[in-house]
Amino acid sequence: MPVTGKGILTSFRIAGIDIEIDYSWAVIFLLVLFGLAAGYFPLVIPGYNWIEYWIVGLTATVLFFASIVIHELSHAMMANSYGHRVNRITLFIFGGMAHLSAEPQKATEELLIASVGPLTSFVLGVFFWAIPHVFDLSSWRLWSETFTYLGIINIALAVFNLLPGFPLDGGRILRAFFWWQSGDVVAATARAGRWATGVVYGLIILGGLEILGGALLGGIWLILIAMFLRSASAASVQNVTVERILGAAQVRDIMVREPQVVRAEESLADVVENYFLKFGYAGFPVMRDGRVVGLISLAQVQQCPPEARATRRVENVMRGLDDSVTIAPGATVLEALHKMAEAETGRLLVMDGDRLAGLITRSGVARFLQIKSRLEMPVELTGTNNG
Ligand SMILES: [Zn+2]
Repeated sequence: MPVTGKGILTSFRIAGIDIEIDYSWAVIFLLVLFGLAAGYFPLVIPGYNWIEYWIVGLTATVLFFASIVIHELSHAMMANSYGHRVNRITLFIFGGMAHLSAEPQKATEELLIASVGPLTSFVLGVFFWAIPHVFDLSSWRLWSETFTYLGIINIALAVFNLLPGFPLDGGRILRAFFWWQSGDVVAATARAGRWATGVVYGLIILGGLEILGGALLGGIWLILIAMFLRSASAASVQNVTVERILGAAQVRDIMVREPQVVRAEESLADVVENYFLKFGYAGFPVMRDGRVVGLISLAQVQQCPPEARATRRVENVMRGLDDSVTIAPGATVLEALHKMAEAETGRLLVMDGDRLAGLITRSGVARFLQIKSRLEMPVELTGTNNG
């Protein structure tokens, strides 16, 4: 799910995986803490003083969020066992999220990565719930109640995550099933996305009923979760479709053949005047004696102060010809995009051996997707987030 905020409050590392805590998480932490220490525990077990309620409240809140981290860690470790290199988990206002570096490659892989989370929460729930049943905590009622609460909340977490609303775990399990049935991950994702819409409406209705029943905060919360799920689902469905289209298209299909080039020995001032401003492109291949020797883009020109541009030449500031800025015509467009992101550039030289075959640009990829989506994406995708 590509829905992280950039504001990270703090982070730490468990088993080689970075656990990031988003600022928004503080809101839910305080809500849960306050709800437990000042609401739930005094109501369920009256007669203690407020310090004790805050101590158990804080313990229960910390263990609750530790349970969420363990849930996400289980996804991450299962994904890692398939070689996905999940190295980041984010805790944010709606819970936790393990960042998969790529979508699962097979239905069974998806099934296992998705199911291990709810299974882990269920096992944790039984574990916490069993503590006061195994040990005699009758003189420690506050603690016995804390473990019972943690047991119930973990089982509730397992059940909620099993809702068939992609990209919730249950929705992923459902998609794995459709995928296994049809062999078509894009169609399976679109189908799972439609189920998610049903779950979203269900949660909104439930939230509305809670509000009517007097549980204002709980109702609003459910509706907020529904809205989050709706956008996460639309984004996931779109991502999968886009990845599939870009993974199937080849660089040679969408590259610019015979792109406008500049000469290595020209001055930056001339290049700005006669190429950047004239053609409106943000970058050009650089040639010397009929051979390509590099790539120049606005970013490199900007680094040179305007008064020095008359004397500096293109070859002084260009990115030289190396692996990071070139790609083969037969590579997929998706590979090209990954490479552009890594090289922090908006274009790559398409090289057929040592001959310049063309230029592929990020805006060219965007145009290709736009046309493709108008012509053949399922209707429900063109309606969302397409601006
Ligand atoms: Zn999960």
